[in-house]
Amino acid sequence: MERKTLITSTRNLAQLFATLEVKEASPQYSLDLAWPNSHNISVSIKRDDLLHPIISGNKWRKLKYSLAQILGSRTLHIVSFGGGFSNHLHALGFCCHRLNIRFTAIVRGDYSANPSPMLHDLQMWQTDIQYVNKITYQQRESPAYLTLLHQQYPNALIIPEGGSNKLALQGVAEIISELDQHYDYIIAPVASGGTLAGLIKATAHSATHILGIAALKGQGYLEEHVQALLPQTYQHWGICHDYHFGGYAKRSNELVDFCNDFYHQTRIEIEPIYSGKLMYAVKDLINRNYFNKGSRLLILHTGGLQGSRAIGQRASIL
Ligand SMILES: *Cc1c(COP(=O)(O)O)cnc(C)c1O
Repeated sequence: MERKTLITSTRNLAQLFATLEVKEASPQYSLDLAWPNSHNISVSIKRDDLLHPIISGNKWRKLKYSLAQILGSRTLHIVSFGGGFSNHLHALGFCCHRLNIRFTAIVRGDYSANPSPMLHDLQMWQTDIQYVNKITYQQRESPAYLTLLHQQYPNALIIPEGGSNKLALQGVAEIISELDQHYDYIIAPVASGGTLAGLIKATAHSATHILGIAALKGQGYLEEHVQALLPQTYQHWGICHDYHFGGYAKRSNELVDFCNDFYHQTRIEIEPIYSGKLMYAVKDLINRNYFNKGSRLLILHTGGLQGSRAIGQRASIL
């Protein structure tokens, strides 16, 4: 039985890669940034943003095994949750469209009169979009609400916000197995916590420290979310809450300028919701001697450039 499942999922994974044309692995290389105080620190980047032109990098890592699982099931229907600019809904909408999976997106807030670019894409991909108010959206993890959804959508696979379920950890772990050298720190942005949890679990037996940069206001809450996805407690991780710039999708002109400067210096696009905060944090932490001399850092570029289309950010970067 187990063997059969394994064969099925290998076949499903092959089908996924062939249909979606996702790269098997992402490149990594060292950056020469000449930032203040950076001369004794080695900084590398792993470009998960290059895995696919539409599917945001870490969302692919997180969704891969859920998609492989559903391809082997009889009912091809996924239900998930997100905001009006969600990279997760965008990635899932594209995947479901290409894989002929029915997709119901439960969206926080009523955008029907004025859909975002993300929602326009979902419409184009035949997503069944259900707008709910904030009170309903808040129940997205409550067992009673999930039971109701299961009755409404029998046999559908319900994937939590951000794609952060236990299967996500398996996909994220592949980031670690792709590395060809040791890093003292791996640094990634945090929102729903699945990416960080996957990195933590996959480095449990190494000397690597996992540092999360909070993209939203959530001291305590974000740590709990990450912990809830982990099979046990670990000591080699933490989340820094000093760089959320006031909260999710909040930004300052300083951050926008930083994203533009970073692009001109490196030709790597970043945006002010996740990767911009991440890079800004790393630069500032280096400047403040947070890392020991000689440390080797790996920054994970999680993608997410579609999410900044509506705020006109992308045009100024390009
Ligand atoms: C969703 C997302 C994150 C946050 O990842 P979580 O696993 O939800 O913590 C980081 N970066 C980008 C670009 C994202 O789209």
